[in-house]
Amino acid sequence: MGSALECLFCKIVADKNSSPRIYEDRHFICIRDIRPRAKVHLLVIPRKHILSLDEAFPEKGWRFSGRSLMGKLYETAVKIARQEKLLPGGFRTVINTGETAGQTVWHLHLHVLGG
Ligand code: 5GP
Ligand code: ZN
Repeated sequence: MGSALECLFCKIVADKNSSPRIYEDRHFICIRDIRPRAKVHLLVIPRKHILSLDEAFPEKGWRFSGRSLMGKLYETAVKIARQEKLLPGGFRTVINTGETAGQTVWHLHLHVLGG
């Protein structure tokens, strides 16, 4: 699962030129998925390196402000969906958590699918 140093999405967050950004703010960036599974397939990625939703809400202890981060993440997804004209039509949001669910990149991200 690796560290932030070798994390693909941390690299994308750090390097403005690696993937064109649909949106960015203090907490998140949004890029297009390299293997789109819908006409519009976006990834909303927190700048902070959090392995997964499991780690955002750890069983023991309180490492990240998971609650406020996840609220902001969904708020940002809606904002981006409006910007990209996915609304008022509609869009789907997906977070894969863990290997069995198909998580392949170990840095929390929200899929936004539409169009
Ligand atoms: P997961 O399977 O972890 O939920 O989603 C990871 C997503 O990241 C996949 O849909 C995959 O296509 C996408 N992805 C993997 N590598 C890259 C990359 O280098 N650039 C972009 N834009 N997307 C990537
Ligand atoms: Zn990372």
